[in-house]
Order: sequence, then C-alpha cells, then structure tokens
Amino acid sequence: MEITERQGKIVEIVKAKGPITGEQIADLLNLTRATLRPDLTVLTMAGLLDARPRVGYYYSGKSKSDALVADRLRKLRVGDFKSVPIVVREETTLYDAIVTMFLEDVGSLAVVSEGGILEGVCSRKDLLKATLGKSDVHKVPVGVTMTRMPNIIFTTPDEPVLLAARKIIQHQIDSLPVVRTYIDDAGNEKLEVIGRFTKTNITRILVELGDIR
Ligand code: ADP
Repeated sequence: MEITERQGKIVEIVKAKGPITGEQIADLLNLTRATLRPDLTVLTMAGLLDARPRVGYYYSGKSKSDALVADRLRKLRVGDFKSVPIVVREETTLYDAIVTMFLEDVGSLAVVSEGGILEGVCSRKDLLKATLGKSDVHKVPVGVTMTRMPNIIFTTPDEPVLLAARKIIQHQIDSLPVVRTYIDDAGNEKLEVIGRFTKTNITRILVELGDIR
C-alpha cells in the first residue's frame, strides 16, 4: 500500500510516541484534528495503526497486505507443492546411488524397503563421506552411510508448508520425505514414501506468493 508523505510522518510520530491521541499528533504537525482525520482512518484501516478509545493511537506494525500474505501462507499444504519421490533400496551401491542423483537431478534420496516403506535418507554429503574412505563404490551399499529411521524427519501432505519449512531449518537439512501413515496387517505403523518436500519447493512457493501479475 502506498502512503502519503503526511501519513508517513504520522506513522513515525506514533512509532516514537504512541500511544498518542489524535489531538497530540495534530499539534505536533501544526494541523487541526479534522485535517488529520482521513489520514488516521486510512492508516487504521490499513492495519498500520491501531486505535484504542481513551488511549489513543499506537503502532501495530502490520499492514493489511502483510497480514493477507501471512494468511495465505498459513493455508498452504505440503501436498500441493511436493515433488515426486526419488527412491533407492538399502542394498543399492554407492555408485548407483550417485548415478541416480545425477540422472534425477536431486540432492538426496529416500531409502525404502518393499512397498515404498521409509527406511532412511541418503544425501550428497553422506555419499561424499562414504567415498572419502576407500570404499569400493561398486560394492558398498547405501545402507552403510544413510541416516536411518527413527531419526528421519518427515512430513505429510496435510501439514502446513510453514511447519515443514520450520523442520528443514531446525534440523539443517535440505528436504523431507513426504509420507502416508498406515497400519500393516501385523498392527505396526508404517510410513510409505509418497513424495519429497525440498528447499526448491519452498522457493517456488515464495515466487508464486510474490508474483502479482
Ligand atoms: P547435504 O548432504 O547435501 O548437505 P542435507 O543437509 O539434507 O544434505 O543432509 C545433511 C545430513 O542430514 C545427512 O547426513 C543426511 O543423511 C541427513 N538428512 C537429510 N535429510 C534428512 C531428514 N529428512 N531427516 C533426517 N536426516 C536427514
């Protein structure tokens, strides 16, 4: 929202001195309260200022448009932005895992067992670490270097993207497997990998939210 020079001055005054009454603001600007009234209305409606009866105006810091963006962001769910999962088996060799990463153009692989059940995650650095030792990349399996369940941080399609993004930051990782939880015949909870949610997905969300064409 564009504000006028005078409205900008009002915001600065309220920021510095609030809570402050309309009369006091008018005095500081050498204007009448009546002249100021439309400006105060605009700023209050935009959410920049809040007004309390008998207290005066104070700075709320949030414009309506900020609040709208935050509102839209909170409604987005992982399932609407996830990418397809790229999976390997625990027995896959380091060599094949590296080739898969290049071919699929991804930075990490979900490691799954029969039925797509999540067993681990293997990232670029895991593979670099394994190849720094003198491992035979054609023989050594991904299982020796991956991060394993139950230490995997994952997400679900109905999780808000903000919470998933927070997990990525908190755990300093690049992506989360997206899983569907189900109970198998033996009554055990299983996590089936149905996607991946990455920093790239989050970047796309940012671009879409900011795209006002
Ligand atoms: P990179 O290796 O490219 O820096 P990450 O930062 O994602 O990629 O991975 C860093 C470490 O965290 C690796 O050891 C990897 O196995 C592990 N890791 C990656 N993703 C997850 C996850 N979703 N849950 C738990 N550990 C993970």
